[in-house]
Amino acid sequence: MLLLFGTLPAAALFTTRTGARAEKLVTIREIASKLNLTITQPPKKLVLQNAQTTVELSTEGREARINGQLVWLHAPPCRSWGRWCLTETDAQKVLLPLLAPASYLKGYGTAVVVLDPGHGGSDPGATSPRGLVEPRIALDLAKRVRAKLVAEGFRVFLTRDVDRFIELEQRPRLAAARQADLFISIHLNAAPNRQPSGIETYVLTSSGYPSTSGTNGDNNPKNNLNQPANARDMQNNIFGYYLQQQLCAATKAEDRGLRHARFVVIKEAPCAAALVECGFLTNPNDERKLMTDAHRDALATGIAKGIIAYGHAVRRANPPAPPKNKDT
Ligand SMILES: [Zn+2]
Repeated sequence: MLLLFGTLPAAALFTTRTGARAEKLVTIREIASKLNLTITQPPKKLVLQNAQTTVELSTEGREARINGQLVWLHAPPCRSWGRWCLTETDAQKVLLPLLAPASYLKGYGTAVVVLDPGHGGSDPGATSPRGLVEPRIALDLAKRVRAKLVAEGFRVFLTRDVDRFIELEQRPRLAAARQADLFISIHLNAAPNRQPSGIETYVLTSSGYPSTSGTNGDNNPKNNLNQPANARDMQNNIFGYYLQQQLCAATKAEDRGLRHARFVVIKEAPCAAALVECGFLTNPNDERKLMTDAHRDALATGIAKGIIAYGHAVRRANPPAPPKNKDT
């Protein structure tokens, strides 16, 4: 895991070529060479590896495994002039930040955390067959996370601590008013059938690409335009990666990956931001677990540990200044 905590060599920028859809591409060979990784090609995969790092890319889709953790890229690898390539966006904004987070976190903080329990009041969110309601569980999880983080010395605010309605746009504004360093919106998932289960973490989609689930009007290119929060794509991906990793580790739930979406609450966030979907109310097994204190506590532990892990990376990137010499 050495490289994961390290910083990149100074010349981390890639040479780009233009793909068939006019997007900028970077060859896998150049990525591997910059990061000292060797390339192997098992069926339907490209694997980039050294002693500390493994990146597995599917040649048929957007799923990648970065040191074992599922991450959805913005576009699948593609071939250009006979060479396998990734989009420059995925290379620069997803892959590199996740492999060398310390290179991207200079000047970032973690002292103030705003937790945003989804829905509430006249917005009921999702309801499970046995009557679990999303806003109530989200609030319960947020309060548990708050208790764990306060014990670790963080300043923590909730966008709501009762069952009341808050406009979506108001939630990131509340984070701005608190001068938040981190914003996490907490939700429970629902699907049209009982099958899907597990945990997802969303961060803002990079400009020019559709979101992972292709929802939120993303098939309309007008919605793919650059947002102010896209300036933090790298930090968002690092933050979301740690959250998803720690949520899955703490709960042993199915890992549905780090994903990208343009949800209002993360699109308008004033700081590094993610939205976590902590299980499916429509899946009988997830529903049964969500009824227990033990599972809710494990979810809260996962979120808190994700924030703490991101905090460690921020501290590695911002070592304390040496004490000043009094004579100068
Ligand atoms: Zn929700």
